[in-house]
Parts: sequence; structure tokens; C-alpha cells
Amino acid sequence: MDKIRIKKLDVFAKHGVFKEENVLGQKFVFSATLHLDTAKAGASDALEDSVNYGEVCHFIREFAEGRTFRLLESLAEHTAAAVLDRFPLVKGIDLEIEKPWAPIGLPLESVSVEISRGWHQVFIALGSNMGDKKKYLDDAVEALDELEGCRIVTVADYIETEPYGGVEQDDFLNSVLLMDTRLEPDVLLEKLHEIEAAADRKRTIRWGPRTLDLDIIFYDDMLLHTPTLTLPHPEMHKRSFVLDPLVQIAPWAWHPAIGKTVRELWEELK
Ligand code: ADP
Ligand code: MG
Repeated sequence: MDKIRIKKLDVFAKHGVFKEENVLGQKFVFSATLHLDTAKAGASDALEDSVNYGEVCHFIREFAEGRTFRLLESLAEHTAAAVLDRFPLVKGIDLEIEKPWAPIGLPLESVSVEISRGWHQVFIALGSNMGDKKKYLDDAVEALDELEGCRIVTVADYIETEPYGGVEQDDFLNSVLLMDTRLEPDVLLEKLHEIEAAADRKRTIRWGPRTLDLDIIFYDDMLLHTPTLTLPHPEMHKRSFVLDPLVQIAPWAWHPAIGKTVRELWEELK
């Protein structure tokens, strides 16, 4: 993707762990690489087809001056999020914030934090087989759409399916949705668990009855294997209750580990 670079924008602001820093203030130096597609503006020569870097600079300065964070990490996280929310053409940002006057009692040139954040495409599978299933799914869709840093793009039709995993239980209602998110995978999983918990979800029997189950199917084309999160979801290609709704909204989606499209996986499972 193309880039617009902002180098060493000085801002005088009041971030820091010490009380004095929050009162007196000091210099912070912002550098940002904005990831966006500039081809359209390149052809049209029109500013509205691109991102006005002057506006971005003023926005960053006002944002950083207008509040107080203890940590550079937090200042960087919130600034990056605010830029991504405010400038929709910006798909990603690498943001470095230097603190040249960091009060550590030793001479140093500067200390800095650098992060990369951006918009990602995720597919989330939804399932419920207890109580008012439709309402649990409707509420989950609404809760996801209201999550800060998340915007739902498409929701597949809800389908009724038979339970999976050999536990005797009621039928499921399932769906899959496509969402843009600027949350990192582990943060998104935490938010999904919070939404499940708010729907009275109790983690008892594996594959047992549940009011609400929210799984991450794909996160861009990321491959990940940690104790708490596997991407893509390790069972997705074996589950018709995932592939049936998924093929409806994204037959083109690509499984980065298996190397097949959703339509191909769905046809094989049938
Ligand atoms: P299941 O969804 O398999 O029926 P749970 O919802 O109880 O069971 O999930 C068990 C654990 O699976 C979660 O706590 C989570 O840490 C882990 N997990 C691993 N990969 C994923 C994923 N892609 N999406 C959601 N949860 C995942
Ligand atoms: Mg789950």
C-alpha cells in the first residue's frame, strides 16, 4: 500500500507518570506513516481523494494536547485509534512518539514508543442453542456493531442447525458476519468473551449448550497459534454451520493455511 509520511511533529503536552509532567508539560515528537491508496488522488489531482496531511498534523496535535496519559504506550494507542476513526481513507498507521526530555535523571537523546495499527477484516461465527436464540444473536450483532473500533459490514441469514460434538441438546441458530475492526486479535477475543458473558454464557461442557458462542473464523489472512487463539479457527472447514452462512456472504474468502476459497471448502464438505 502507498504511504504518506509525517516526520517529527513537535507537540507540547502533559503526559507522564510523574505529577510534575502532568502540570508543567514537555515536548513530544510524533512521526507517522499513513498507509492508504493514493492512486485515485494521483490521477485526479484532487485533495478530497486523498488524506490532507495538514489536517492529520493538526488533529494529532489537538488530540495529544487535549488529554493526559501516564504512558507513551497509551498515548500512542489512543492517538492511532483516533486517527483511524477520523480519517477513513487511512487503512493503517505506524506511529512513533518520542519523548526527548524524559525525566529519568540520566542524559539521553530520546526515548520512544512505536506501534502499528490498522483496519482488519474479520469473520465472526455466531451460535446459540438456549432460550430466545434469535434474540441472543440479534443482541450480539448489535453489541459488536457498538464496540469501539468495530463496524459490521455484512451479516449472513440465521440458519437452524443440528448440534455438533455428540452432546444431547437443542438445535442451534447460527450465522456469520463480516466486520471491519481496528482491534488486535487478542483484544477482539477478549471483547467477544465479554459479550458472551453478558449473554449469561457459562463455560461448562465443551460443545455443550450455550446462550451465545462467538468465534473468530478469519482475521485478514493471519495465521496464529497461541494457547488462547488459533487463526483461522481450527474447526471451521469441518463445520457446515460455519461454511453455510459464510459461503453466502464471502465465497471468495481465502483460507490462508489450507489454500482454498470458502466456496471450495463448502463444496468439499457437502
Ligand atoms: P467452542 O467455541 O470451541 O465451542 P469455547 O467458546 O468455550 O468453545 O472456546 C474455548 C476457547 O477457544 C476460548 O476460550 C478461546 O480462548 C479459544 N479459541 C481458540 N481459537 C479461537 C478462535 N479462533 N475463536 C474463538 N475462540 C478461540
Ligand atoms: Mg467459542
